[in-house]
Amino acid sequence: MDRPPPEPGPGEVLVRMRACGICGSDLARLRDPDEKWNRVVLGHECSGVVEASRPGDTGVSSVPGGETLAVGQRVALLPLLPDFTCSYCRRGEFSLCDGYSFFGSRKDGGLAEYMVAPASNFLSLPDAVDDESAAMLEPLSVATKGCLLSGLFPGEAGGAGPAVLVMGAGAIGLLAVQVALALGAAPVIACDVIPEKLALAASLGAETVLSTADSVPEQVRELTAGRGTEVCLECSGHYAAFAPALESLAKGGALVMVGTGPGEVVLTGEQREQICRRMLTLRGQWMSYGPTWPGEPWTIPLALLAEGRLDPKRLITHRFALEQTPEAVRFMLTPGADHLKVMITT
Ligand SMILES: [Zn+2]
Repeated sequence: MDRPPPEPGPGEVLVRMRACGICGSDLARLRDPDEKWNRVVLGHECSGVVEASRPGDTGVSSVPGGETLAVGQRVALLPLLPDFTCSYCRRGEFSLCDGYSFFGSRKDGGLAEYMVAPASNFLSLPDAVDDESAAMLEPLSVATKGCLLSGLFPGEAGGAGPAVLVMGAGAIGLLAVQVALALGAAPVIACDVIPEKLALAASLGAETVLSTADSVPEQVRELTAGRGTEVCLECSGHYAAFAPALESLAKGGALVMVGTGPGEVVLTGEQREQICRRMLTLRGQWMSYGPTWPGEPWTIPLALLAEGRLDPKRLITHRFALEQTPEAVRFMLTPGADHLKVMITT
């Protein structure tokens, strides 16, 4: 639909959008019959150029202590709008904020020519990071947060990286393969039911395990000298992935639940015992922020992108112009449609 361009308020900037990815969560919103989704502009994986600030605001200040945003600055959206005041925000756990909003679900997002948000909701981009890669910073930040939540990646001190199993070679899983490898994980093993997705994972540097073949934990142990992986990033959200993910972990390992989905997961007595005896960690993940706003889940992949060490555009299977968004969405909602990342460019 046509709407007048939004106008920036105090501390806000108007951004002309350049690229916006469509996320699985956008499709879930589009399938939901609730009419509230007809009133909000979707799109939270996006990048653009600062077009204007409020008259009188000169070089609107970004985050506290952060840089300023000038007209012409290229930016990526940080879609979470925390209140910055609750007890969770004060300790940097912005994803747990008591009073948050979100661009692209609760407030208008980036599937439009323009969007408006506080300057602190945009991350400045270096020239080396192109518009589409910048639009994929949000899912990259999710993949990075998963690695960080495991607590098992070497920090600045360095050292050997963990063996990592990525369950589910969809968009987030394939980005997790790239980020885990860039952060020093070895080996990185991707597991999926679809051979074509595993072929892409392999071309990105992962070992692969087809989950419809033999037992997944057995195959993972074969690839890790019998140990299992220190980290499992469960990106499929499928209930059937939980048990093999758990059983593939090495002693002291961590299972990070990145994906969500329907279906019951029931632990056997043996699995429960093994969680204790093998001192496993089960860690839930929601979104991708950390201290200091927006935190390392964003600054790490931004630096890796600038160094040319991530190639998220390998996942883009389809591109549409903004006016073709309905067509893009109809395609993605078609049962059996074969796509990874669908990118809208303006
Ligand atoms: Zn808060």
